[in-house]
Formats: sequence, C-alpha cells, structure tokens
Amino acid sequence: MRWFYRCPTCGAEYEVVPGRYVCDACSAEQEPSRPLSGVLEVEWEGDEGELGAVPLPVEPEWFPPIPVGNTPLWEPARLRRELGFPGLYLKDDTCNPTGSFKDRASFLVAAFAARHGIGEIALASTGNAASSMAGVGAAAGIKVTVFLPNTAPAAKRIQVLQYGAELRAVDGTYDDAYDRSLEYTTSGGALSRNTAYNPLTIEGKKTVSFEIVEQLGTAPDHIFVPAGDGVILAGVYRGFENLLRLGRIAKMPVVWACQAEGSSAIVRALESGGFGEPVRSATIADSISVDVPRNGTHALSKLKAHGGRGVIVGDGEILVAQKQLASRTGLFAEPSSSAAYAGFLKMRLTIDPESRVVLLITGSGLKDTDGAARGLEESI
Ligand SMILES: *Cc1c(COP(=O)(O)O)cnc(C)c1O
Repeated sequence: MRWFYRCPTCGAEYEVVPGRYVCDACSAEQEPSRPLSGVLEVEWEGDEGELGAVPLPVEPEWFPPIPVGNTPLWEPARLRRELGFPGLYLKDDTCNPTGSFKDRASFLVAAFAARHGIGEIALASTGNAASSMAGVGAAAGIKVTVFLPNTAPAAKRIQVLQYGAELRAVDGTYDDAYDRSLEYTTSGGALSRNTAYNPLTIEGKKTVSFEIVEQLGTAPDHIFVPAGDGVILAGVYRGFENLLRLGRIAKMPVVWACQAEGSSAIVRALESGGFGEPVRSATIADSISVDVPRNGTHALSKLKAHGGRGVIVGDGEILVAQKQLASRTGLFAEPSSSAAYAGFLKMRLTIDPESRVVLLITGSGLKDTDGAARGLEESI
C-alpha cells in the first residue's frame, strides 16, 4: 500500500514525511487573515484488501497505548419520543480518554511521531486540542508543548498541566497562539499538531465516520457536526468519502455544519460563496470560537461538493440545548457540542422524521462548568 499526501486544489502529491505540512505551490498563495491555503489530504494507492477496518497511513504497531475512539452510539429514547425522531442517535465522543473528539487527531499524530522517532509535539489550541495532545502524549511518552490563550477554560488548562505538558500561556487570542506555535515548530524540531496544518489531524478524525457506519450497519442520512476551524467537518467527510470509495456505503450523508452566531465564518461562506474579512469571534462555545477558520477553505469545498448544509445558532439556543440534552438523555455536553444539538432542533422540521440522524457530541460538559452554570442562571 502506498500512502501519500495530495493537494485537493492543484493535485500535487507529496510523501508522508516529517516536515511536510501544506502544498508548496498553494500555500505560497496564502493571504493574511484567511483560512489556510494548500491543506493536504491523505490518499492511498494499492491493493485495498490489505486495508484494515479503518485505513490509516501509520501502522498500528506505532499507535499510542491509550484507548481513543470506539465511542458509544447512544439511542436516546426519551428525546426520540419527545421530538418524534425514532432514528436519532448521539455519537458520544465525550467518552474519549481526555473527554473530547480531539483525541482522534492526537492519536494519529502521536503514532506518526513515534514512527519517525520524533520526541516533541507542539500546538496551539483553544483548550481541547491542547489537553488532548497532552494526554495522548503522556501515554506515548512524547513531550508536548502547548500555546494556549489565557482565556481558555480553567479545566482545560489544569488538564494540560496534570498530563505534564509544557504550557506557554498566550496573552491574546487563539489566532495569536497559532502564530506563536508555528514560529516555535518552524524554528525547532518539534512536530506541529496544529489543526488543519498537519494533514494527519484531518485524517485522524475520519475514524468517527467508520465507527458510525459500523454501529448503524449503514450510513446515516444526516449528521450534525459542530464547526470551528472545520477540521472535524472535513474529517467526517473524509471518512465517508473513503467509505464510498471502498463500497461500504452507497451514498453521502447530509452533513450539517453547526456554528455559533458569534463564530460563523464557514456557514456564512457557504451562503455567500467565500471568505471575507475576519470577524472577531464571540461565543460561549469556546471550542468553536475562531476568528479565521483554519480549515475553512477545505471544509467549504467539501460542503459544496457534497451538498452539505449550514446552520447558525445563538448562545441562548446553545445553553437551552445543553440543558435539554443533559436533562433528557444523561449526556452532559460542552457548549460546542450542544451547538450540534441546537442546530438539529432548529432544522428538524425540514428533516424527514423517519431518517437516521446522528448528532456528534464532541466534548464533555465537565470541561467548562462556568459556561454551563450560565445556562442554569438563565432558568431554562
Ligand atoms: C475543536 C472542537 C470542535 C470544533 O472542531 P473544528 O475542527 O475546530 O471545527 C467542536 N467540539 C469540540 C468539543 C472541540 O474541541
């Protein structure tokens, strides 16, 4: 099996080796304050009989010793009855070791580092990517350096320190932290796990689509995905594209990009056709709060290619959804994930109630109890 990177924009191919992140030609056209240009995708060529249940570009012998993925698919009976959607499912990625979906990306990046004898991984994060990489790095015995804005919720910061990672606090936004981390990895020997920039972050996230199809026995009709940088979105699409190529599913599900009103660049771009000047983000859902969606261009091209949809929800709707989800199902989700449920609530009347709908619940509510407390104050 030959594994390689391919630029979906110009078709250039590259080896999957340390130091290779983006397409040379397309990244040269990067404009300031715009999503990344030249984001690469992982491709394979060869005998597909050799591929395992989930095709990945790093051999299992390098996987870190930590049980990431294979998360449960809930059948929320009360919610199904109340909403009249007997085919509603919750993919519970709060069950990952560090409490978020980000572990799927960290897992593959750590495997790649191990395979190439790389001893340090660095990244910028709004919180979950940092705590995830720190936890997976701890299991693998790899040093992790994180650039985290001071505004990150305390639980995520404390998690990073508990796992023994080096924390570089950034007095600024996630976007500032992103720039700092790139300076750091460009000037030293650390592997960058910056989301979208490292193609393995997208590739690692595709595993969720394989699990959902295995758990359902078929493809879902709709899947609601919270979107900030748009890497989960692209990863979910990548998984379904692989599954189509392998003949394991017959159609592409309708993927819904769910964004907060105060951080909605991808959905706005889907409506208007492209990305304009960045808007300073402001939402309670810190994990999907970005000024510039790093994987915006790539995610947008996937949405356009596959008839994806977008939905924008306000912070009030997110808080109501968070409380409703927790109190009707027993699943306490963080605000970003609650945005996926809020998006479904908003659009459900446009969806056939007999369809199979999966909500991607990406992070645990315990990661930001201050935010959740606000939802209680507003007496829902
Ligand atoms: C990072 C994150 C998201 C958004 O993922 P993107 O790839 O940035 O779109 C959603 N939910 C949680 C819990 C996250 O940590």
